[in-house]
Amino acid sequence: MLRRQPNPADFVARLRNRTVRALRRHGKFLIAEVGDFLWVTHLGMSGRMQVAAPGAPEAAHTNVVVTVKGAEVRFVDPRTFGFVAAFTPAELAQTSIAALGPDALTDLPRAPRIVDRLRGRKAAIKPLLLNQSIVSGIGNIYADEVLWRARVSPHRAGGSLTPGEVGAIRSAIRPVLEAGLRHGGTSLDDLAYLLPDGRAGNYMARLEAYGREDEPCSRCGGAIRRDVIGQRSSFWCPRCQA
Ligand SMILES: [Zn+2]
Repeated sequence: MLRRQPNPADFVARLRNRTVRALRRHGKFLIAEVGDFLWVTHLGMSGRMQVAAPGAPEAAHTNVVVTVKGAEVRFVDPRTFGFVAAFTPAELAQTSIAALGPDALTDLPRAPRIVDRLRGRKAAIKPLLLNQSIVSGIGNIYADEVLWRARVSPHRAGGSLTPGEVGAIRSAIRPVLEAGLRHGGTSLDDLAYLLPDGRAGNYMARLEAYGREDEPCSRCGGAIRRDVIGQRSSFWCPRCQA
């Protein structure tokens, strides 16, 4: 879990006996300001945070345990695609985290700016939405939901979208992410992702496209299709997403 820590032994030394001053997030990176350091966590594909009573039995694949007053903050990650690190601000500035695009929820660019970033791009809009340097924070499930809501095919080249289509995508981003948050996120059948108290998020029941292959589109009745685009499963409605 420490592969991005410049010197792995520093992770514990830098956090021990320090005070958490602030918690924030940029895209998919969770950032705690701890003393003069920045404790950064990324959940990867299968990670979750858990808050447990001190000494409570550990879930399988509990890879990081940080003891705070009265509780343990645990990072459980069966596939270990996630990571933790405690950076100095200067170290953080040298990482790809410093090059992230604006946050999709708190700093969403206006549509003309997104049009600029997509101009001439031949890549499909689906992987461009997952490209964290344009807008950060949108993952695979939410990208499919955004494109469904915007009625745009995931196969369309980014540079081929009209300003109106880009505007529709932009307008869909916040409602989709906010609905996901309101319903505790998307716990799939594998229950890899859970809330810190162990409850499952229930946004899965509200998904319109993701995971619904061959089921009817709630808008037009057409069958939802699954295609692999940029090595990721993509679910969309060929009848009403153009
Ligand atoms: Zn449809």
